[in-house]
Amino acid sequence: PQGLEGPVAELLSWADEFRKLGVRANADVPRDAKVAREFGAEGIGLCRTEHMFFEKDRIPKVRRMIVARTKEEREAALAELLPLQKEDFKGLFREMKGYPVTIRLIDPPLHEFLPQEEEQMAEVAQQIGITVEELKKVVEQLHELNPMLGHRGVRLVITYPEIAVMQTKAIILAAIELKKEEGIEVVPEIMIPLVGHVNELKYIKQVVMETADALIKEHGVDLKYLVGTMIEVPRAAVTADQIAQEADFFSFGTNDLTQMTFGFSRDDVGKFLPEYLEKGILEHDPFKHIDTQGVGQLVKLATEKGKEVKPTLKCGVCGEHGGDPKSIEFFATTKLDYVSASPYRIPVARLAAAQASIKYRS
Ligand code: PEP
Ligand code: MG
Repeated sequence: PQGLEGPVAELLSWADEFRKLGVRANADVPRDAKVAREFGAEGIGLCRTEHMFFEKDRIPKVRRMIVARTKEEREAALAELLPLQKEDFKGLFREMKGYPVTIRLIDPPLHEFLPQEEEQMAEVAQQIGITVEELKKVVEQLHELNPMLGHRGVRLVITYPEIAVMQTKAIILAAIELKKEEGIEVVPEIMIPLVGHVNELKYIKQVVMETADALIKEHGVDLKYLVGTMIEVPRAAVTADQIAQEADFFSFGTNDLTQMTFGFSRDDVGKFLPEYLEKGILEHDPFKHIDTQGVGQLVKLATEKGKEVKPTLKCGVCGEHGGDPKSIEFFATTKLDYVSASPYRIPVARLAAAQASIKYRS
């Protein structure tokens, strides 16, 4: 894509004069970041780092990390991932030219990186240098009945802080090198997923900060970074005042927040939702348009509580709702600072944000 040209570009630049909500993009790779910038994104609101782990040259290293028997083995596998992950972040930072970039630490349950099919076991076991029996044992150990409510997000890095250490090193080194080598200034925003209790954030923030501060000192550079959290567990929204004391920013994961507030599985909603819509039990699919009375109220409450404690707290939405005009109309009535949408939704989000500002102009 060449970005926006002609009347559309002009219309959107008029729209930008009215909107109060910032518009960022969800982007994991430089290619998406480029599209996002061309469409007018003012930063990256969510980089899902796990996507970088699925690449062909990485996945064996990731798998070796997962099947490691000791912390030392795990650290050795992570050390191989570090330079690759660092280059990922350099690519993103370079593309975003100093605009803010929020990078989320690994989120999915580890079993997602291992084969589940019997036929793949032999090949994967050979690839990572263990026996099929050993691999099957790990797969069995990682099995959870309810993985979306299980060992994922912040829970993973509390169990394995060394993963957070590797990712923090990659983020900070990328920023240091870009500054030194290319004169690009970036303030990385390191984000922790699935926090529900302030102590989870406190614990991992300390790991992140110790790692980042040591590197910054070692390299003798002046580099700022932020540590913030996803708000996607209802408990985090309700205790946002406590969590804000430990966070530089909040980003609402409205996909998970909708899932956990309704108690609807994100992945199985098709089983009953059509019936709900047909029978008028729900007016719309809450994963598409924000549920203003429930989930939306949690977003509003947490933003207000957070900013009361910390007026500088930046608050955004990075769930799918960030690119949905109806949801954006609601978000514009809250104290949120920005929405983050997938790159091709950026023009729509800019326009929707402007229309909402005009509608609710006081
Ligand atoms: C969310 O939960 O809204 C979110 C942005 O994170 P993910 O979709 O990766 O769970
Ligand atoms: Mg989520």
